[in-house]
Amino acid sequence: MKKRTGILLGLDILLLCVFAEAMVEKYNTKAVFNTMQESKKIALTFDDGPNAEYTEMLLKGLEERGVPATFFLLGKEVEKYPDIVELIHQKGHLIGTHSYEHVNLKNLSDEAAIEQVDKTNAAIHNIIGEYPEFIRPPFGSWKSNLDYETNMIEVLWDIDPLDWKTNNAGVVTKRVVDKAKEDDIILMHDASESSVEAALEIVDELKEEGYIFVTVDEIIFE
Ligand SMILES: [Zn+2]
Repeated sequence: MKKRTGILLGLDILLLCVFAEAMVEKYNTKAVFNTMQESKKIALTFDDGPNAEYTEMLLKGLEERGVPATFFLLGKEVEKYPDIVELIHQKGHLIGTHSYEHVNLKNLSDEAAIEQVDKTNAAIHNIIGEYPEFIRPPFGSWKSNLDYETNMIEVLWDIDPLDWKTNNAGVVTKRVVDKAKEDDIILMHDASESSVEAALEIVDELKEEGYIFVTVDEIIFE
C-alpha cells in the first residue's frame, strides 16, 4: 500500500513537472513562479442583506470574475427577499447568519439571542435547504456561551473599510487594498452602489496581486 502511494506520488510530481515546464514554455519562468508564490487566500464578506437593490448587482459582478463570497443575512430581510437568497446560494456563495433584526446580541437574554439566531437559520433553511454554520454577530458583539447554545461558529473580520459611511468607492477600495494580507477577512455591506463598485474593484486589484478569493470556511478551517 505504501509503495503504491509512493508510485502515485511520483506520478503526481512527474505530472506537475510536465505541467510546470509547459507553463514556463507558454509564459515565462518569472511569471509562473510569481503566481505560485503569491497564491494567498482572502475572503470578502457582506453583511445586512439580502438587499433588494444591490445584492443582484454584486452577484453579477462576482460571477463575471469567478469569485465566491460569504453573505451574513438578516432573518427579517431573508423573509422579504427569498428569491435573492436562493440566487446567492445557487451562485455558489456561502450563507451565514447576522441575527434576525440587527440587534446587539450581548444586550439580550440568552433566550432572546438564541431566538434571533434560530429564527434566521430557519428562514434560510426554508429557502436553501441548509442551516448556516457561521454567524457574524451585529457589531461583533457575541457571548461565547452562545457558540455552544446555538452551535454557530463566530466569524469576525480583519479589515473594516467602513463602506457604509461613504459613497466614494475609490476610498473604500484603497482602504482595503492597502491593508490586505494573506488570510484576511474583509467586512463590507451590499447595501449601496459604491460598496458594490468598491468590492468589485477590490477583487480586480487583489487578483492582480495574486490573491485567491475564498469563502470564510476555507480560512477558518485552514
Ligand atoms: Zn450589520
